[in-house]
Amino acid sequence: MSLLDRLPPLRGRLRANAPLAPSTWFKVGGNAEVLFRPEDFDDLRTFLRDRAADIPVTVLGAGSNTLVRDGGIRGVVVRLGRGFVEIVSDGDDALIAGAGALCANVAKKAQLDEIGGLAFLSGIPGAVGGALRMNAGAYGGETRHVLDWAEALDCHGGLHRLTPRDLGYAYRHSDLPEGWIFTRARFCGIPAATGIAEEIARIAIARTSSQPTGSATGGSTFRNPPGHKAWQLIESVGGRGFSVGGAQMSEKHCNFMINIGGATAADLEKLGETMRSRVLEAHGIALQWEIKRVGETVVPAYPEDCA
Ligand SMILES: Cc1cc2nc3c(=O)[nH]c(=O)nc-3n(C[C@H](O)[C@H](O)[C@H](O)COP(=O)(O)OP(=O)(O)OC[C@H]3O[C@@H](n4cnc5c(N)ncnc54)[C@H](O)[C@@H]3O)c2cc1C
Repeated sequence: MSLLDRLPPLRGRLRANAPLAPSTWFKVGGNAEVLFRPEDFDDLRTFLRDRAADIPVTVLGAGSNTLVRDGGIRGVVVRLGRGFVEIVSDGDDALIAGAGALCANVAKKAQLDEIGGLAFLSGIPGAVGGALRMNAGAYGGETRHVLDWAEALDCHGGLHRLTPRDLGYAYRHSDLPEGWIFTRARFCGIPAATGIAEEIARIAIARTSSQPTGSATGGSTFRNPPGHKAWQLIESVGGRGFSVGGAQMSEKHCNFMINIGGATAADLEKLGETMRSRVLEAHGIALQWEIKRVGETVVPAYPEDCA
């Protein structure tokens, strides 16, 4: 029986063997065994509650921090679409945003509502769910500092309202249990703020001058180790511009990997691992991946040494 036939009745879009490369910023990787775009909250809840327990579930946001491996992802990949993008005002200092809404749109809505403190979200190319999961931050702002609460469904469809404290936030990290899916969140800022448009414009200029924003990339590859900058460690081992196949450490920001054309996920992962081992050897520091790597590697039909 195919995986599609094993799923409960759902209203959203289901596609077997769906290519994931177009859904990620790196533009690499294999297919989802099944891609599910729930119609709305109830549809997602039905899926989580009624699916067979042995079916793996992976959630993907805007794919700006994820490397999907070349062998694709087994089970069901969930992407939150139309039913999860609403952003509404809640009082004069807060917004409630669906987990599928782009962070940039939350920043725009905050500008319209004159709510200060949320402009940093304009510099994060992901969706709200990814920002909540990663505790995304930029230009002095961090998700945990503006979050009032977030709602998430657990792997059985149970709804939980979580505070930043519940989420155990740290630098680019949350303790969200495996398999839980954020559905919406309430963000608070400063009411009647001015100068938000100028702040968003400053952030846009800062980003384009320091990051390879027009490239196929996944943002910072490694977390900054305490007391160090990952890019400086990579630069010190000759990483700037170093490449493996179609994957390269960006010349512009050498903690960003880019797909310069025709890269595979394996090229990108090998490039990252090469940087990790060089930095470990030179400095005794084990860089930790910030990018989420998901899915299966492709095992070559013939081992390389027999080719
Ligand atoms: C050019 C560029 C610049 C960047 N600059 C920054 C920056 O300045 N600061 C920064 O913090 N990040 C930055 N990033 C990284 C990235 O944008 C953030 O980590 C972002 O929050 C990821 O969101 P996403 O929706 O793309 O998540 P994805 O990459 O799709 O997923 C990331 C993780 O979140 C999980 N996830 C996604 N949606 C949900 C959900 N609804 N519920 C539960 N888990 C979910 C995924 O399973 C995965 O583990 C940058 C990336 C790029 C490409």
